[in-house]
Amino acid sequence: MSTNDTQPASNFIRQIIANDLKENKNEGKVITRFPPEPNGYLHIGHAKSICLNFGIAAENNGRCNLRFDDTNPEKESDEYVQAIKRDVEWLGFEWSELHHASDYFEQLYSFAIQLIEQGQAYVDSLSAEQIREYRGTLTEPGKESPDRSRSIAENLDLFKRMRAGEFADGQYVLRAKIDMASPNINMRDPAIYRIRRVHHQRTGNDWCIYPMYDYTHCISDAIEGITHSLCTLEFEDHRPLYDWVLEQLKTPCHPQQIEFARLQLEYTIVSKRKLNQLVTEKHVHGWDDPRMPTIAGLRRAGFTPKSIRDFCERIGLTKQNSWIEMGVLEYCIREDLNDNAPRAMAVLQPLRIVIDNYPEVQTEQLEVGNHPQKPELGKRIVPFSKVILIEQDDFAEVPPPKFKRLIAGGEVRLRGAYVIQCNKVIKDADGNIIELRCSYDPDTLGKNPEGRKVKGVIHWVSEQHSYPAELRLYNRLFKVPSPDNEPNFLDAINPESLEVLSDCRVEASLAQPQPENRYQFERIGYFCFDAIDSIEGKLVFNRTVTLRDNWEKD
Ligand code: ATP
Ligand code: MG
Repeated sequence: MSTNDTQPASNFIRQIIANDLKENKNEGKVITRFPPEPNGYLHIGHAKSICLNFGIAAENNGRCNLRFDDTNPEKESDEYVQAIKRDVEWLGFEWSELHHASDYFEQLYSFAIQLIEQGQAYVDSLSAEQIREYRGTLTEPGKESPDRSRSIAENLDLFKRMRAGEFADGQYVLRAKIDMASPNINMRDPAIYRIRRVHHQRTGNDWCIYPMYDYTHCISDAIEGITHSLCTLEFEDHRPLYDWVLEQLKTPCHPQQIEFARLQLEYTIVSKRKLNQLVTEKHVHGWDDPRMPTIAGLRRAGFTPKSIRDFCERIGLTKQNSWIEMGVLEYCIREDLNDNAPRAMAVLQPLRIVIDNYPEVQTEQLEVGNHPQKPELGKRIVPFSKVILIEQDDFAEVPPPKFKRLIAGGEVRLRGAYVIQCNKVIKDADGNIIELRCSYDPDTLGKNPEGRKVKGVIHWVSEQHSYPAELRLYNRLFKVPSPDNEPNFLDAINPESLEVLSDCRVEASLAQPQPENRYQFERIGYFCFDAIDSIEGKLVFNRTVTLRDNWEKD
């Protein structure tokens, strides 16, 4: 596998572009675009397309535009536009130009007039249902609409009146006049304009006709001088239409459409429509819920831009649809955080320990390294005092075999501090352990005890110096690898995708975490500070990923 530091691996698109450059096609320019529809938040599948488009441009001293494909006003909003911009920037990319397909509405309209004048488009009065019937099937050719032979003059008149708002929604459509017998159904006189009275988030009520996606996309690419229009495989069958439109219009620029396989990721969903359903039906807490495969969700869970870019590079680029294991994404973030996240201590389920031979009022400010392999990440102060908290399950009255942590009468090392010994177990009336009485060996700070071996090391915090925290342990959102293949993907939601631990304590150095501060909580996992839900007196941290692929305990 390649890593971030090595040269990017070649793939078929990089090869096509290298070839084009060799032949000095497009005067040696590489101009790409990322064209999201602002009808939802970006997801990890989009990240693949973003890394590809921006990456290819950057590698070739080219340019990449961000273009909002906003031709479906019903489902689009400015909230989505803003979220998409934020996410692309957060991933570490800078667009050369920012465009909206709606900026081209006037030009798109003129091009439609041109097609009509050339006898290559006509206004059709068939209903949507009739158009579907007339279209034919894969095995049968389509049937021509009676309106196909309408005169150019009449088409021009009707189309202008469509724009002027003289007709009801759905009364007419403008269709390209191509070939009703084409083996490719997309070429059987596709609709290119429809009447739709909806408010558009940018053009307001200026238009009551809207251009269709296929027609808009190729022209927008051509207007921007895109050289390589990279899209996902489902558009392969649309390429003849893409080329047809530009050929008829004789645009000076004719981008080359190249298709690649969509990212499909196990245990999640990459479809904005379904993600939208998860949000609106409240199966998750919004688009940025850390369980969501959205960029916003991944960011809130603690993923780094680097880990996502690394993931997109690692999965490669092909023309075959395949499923990627969630483990690959988790591997990428684990690598990054293992290298770069400072260590800290948090106790999930505290057990109180009183150190009887430690002075009542004393606090020691212990210096502890932030990273075991990276002294350059510095040190922090971890206060040590008479009452500390450890993890309940780091103590066992009846230890299972090979248990190396604290037992009655036994010793254990507190990470970065002393060796303690448990002398007494205090229980409540019901027999629950409520406190341990221990002693510490003052001679064991940063050195081994004399004459005996203490194997176990556990994490801890000082009771009076630690802060209350809520730790949210996220698991995969779905319980099956391909929820998309279920009759109803909602039935495959994992009921245990979130476990909230609300009585945790974190060490004193975490007094004021900043948004996106990430930590390895020693022996527990990687966590990210949640600035949105944290309140005065309760810090919230989201688990990004466990320490290891399989939960193992030392
Ligand atoms: P969705 O079905 O989730 O709405 P989409 O393809 O309709 O996806 P767009 O906003 O139209 O979403 O996508 C913008 C760009 O991102 C397109 O070029 C599209 O091909 C690409 N893209 C979308 N999903 C994926 C994916 N899973 N893998 C790779 N590229 C994707
Ligand atoms: Mg789409």
